[in-house]
Amino acid sequence: MTPLLEVDNVSAAYGAVQALTDVSLRVMPGEIVTLIGANGAGKSTLLMTICGAPVPRAGRIRLAGEDITGEKTHLTMRRGVAQSPEGRRIFPRMTVYENLLMGAQALTTGDPGPQLEQVFTLFPRMKERLAQRGGTLSGGEQQMLAIGRALMSKPRLLLLDEPSLGLAPLVVRQIFGAIRQLNESTGLTVLLVEQNANQALRLAHRGYVLVNGRITMEGGGHELLARPEIRDAYLGGG
Ligand code: ATP
Repeated sequence: MTPLLEVDNVSAAYGAVQALTDVSLRVMPGEIVTLIGANGAGKSTLLMTICGAPVPRAGRIRLAGEDITGEKTHLTMRRGVAQSPEGRRIFPRMTVYENLLMGAQALTTGDPGPQLEQVFTLFPRMKERLAQRGGTLSGGEQQMLAIGRALMSKPRLLLLDEPSLGLAPLVVRQIFGAIRQLNESTGLTVLLVEQNANQALRLAHRGYVLVNGRITMEGGGHELLARPEIRDAYLGGG
């Protein structure tokens, strides 16, 4: 089977700062894959590189077998890749409804209705808060909105950058539960990057570990979680 996403020996840098070195990973259709790593390991850079900026210095990125290396972000979005970025980046002065509609811009069908229903099923709170300004939502609600906005484009690959950041363990469980539900009910493919190794690896079919811009380990989610070196280095995040 062709992987939905293939990152093949990718290196990326910001000027003299080497952020990724020879990174290879793959995400099969229907999988949840988690990439864990500490602050500054290069997790966000990898997601941004998949979305076209920075352009890799070496290596190739393929979506369903098609080369998308260095492609402009809006073109990659149109192919069905959506990202919920680190720090959520919702529009604080816009309402929940307006934020969600912003995510529907890449929708090729034009009618955002079915996607809105999907977001409401997943996060009923968003339906209750449709008229509320994004900036006044709680941290957990803002995360739900950021994921909801990404889903509005009906993606085939959802990229999630540290959805658990700054949230209480109970809220993290809710959000990860929603991601699992979505994956099980629709088969949506997810690449999740996280510092919170515990819950993120429990959720994942497979995982990778990124250290200083290099992949150092890969395996099944539970298998990685059981490794002593992972427990020592990454567990403690709840
Ligand atoms: P965090 O969890 O703290 O967000 P991360 O794993 O997502 O970390 P990146 O944000 O990808 O890590 O950063 C990887 C490296 O690239 C770091 O050394 C960082 O300082 C550097 N870096 C990131 N963005 C830039 C930039 N715009 N210009 C220069 N260096 C950058």
